[in-house]
Amino acid sequence: MNIMKFVKTNKLLSGVFIAYIFLFMTMPDKAVLSVKNSMYYIIEMLEIMPVIFVLTSIVEVWVPKEVILKGFGDKSGIKGNVLSFVLGSVSAGPIYAAFPVCKMLLKKGASIMNIVIILSAWAVIKVPMLANEAKFLGVKFMSIRWMLTVVSIFVMAYIVSVIVKKESIPIDKELKIEEINGIDIREQYCIGCGLCKKLLPDYFEIFNKKAKLKNTEIKNQEIGEFKRIIEKCPAKAISFK
Ligand code: SF4
Repeated sequence: MNIMKFVKTNKLLSGVFIAYIFLFMTMPDKAVLSVKNSMYYIIEMLEIMPVIFVLTSIVEVWVPKEVILKGFGDKSGIKGNVLSFVLGSVSAGPIYAAFPVCKMLLKKGASIMNIVIILSAWAVIKVPMLANEAKFLGVKFMSIRWMLTVVSIFVMAYIVSVIVKKESIPIDKELKIEEINGIDIREQYCIGCGLCKKLLPDYFEIFNKKAKLKNTEIKNQEIGEFKRIIEKCPAKAISFK
């Protein structure tokens, strides 16, 4: 892969790398401090994320889709909202640990509203912290702040659920073979890396740096290959219809 292609597909990482070079050239002491801080967070992530991935995989395999749909789906109503709030509030760990969990829940049928509630409660409401807050700032302060935070979370979750539709979130749908009606490529996400064309040249081609379908009829024996491409597409631009 040439450098320009790498920069194009890893814009954020490249930006951080350039910022580090600039920092080392202009303020080396701050650059060293910055590297130390980054290492601290990288090590923290390496300690936490494997556990989160294992737990997420266990829940994904062992908890039936119906249970997630009933507890957190679009029809779960207020009960689902409350359950999501409790789940987010009692969960431990930094907020980035919540993303794979939420993606798995979304994939299994949780609603956007409940996902926003879980993420927001996970980020700003920690039950043990409430006792600490009350100790230092008083019960009245803690209670009013907590109530307003809860109201804000529910209002925000409702607004996000109205604006953001599930189709715009790059999650792989769990479909049975008989439910698959073809392949969808979201061109706005495609970065033209050509991986799909390399893996299934009979089905994909690259035109104007975007993947296009050459053949819309999928043979059953090739479903597995398509699943592999859907997983591997770096932009998560391919999905089953
Ligand atoms: S659809 Fe995915 S794999 Fe295919 S070219 Fe676009 S980004 Fe690459």
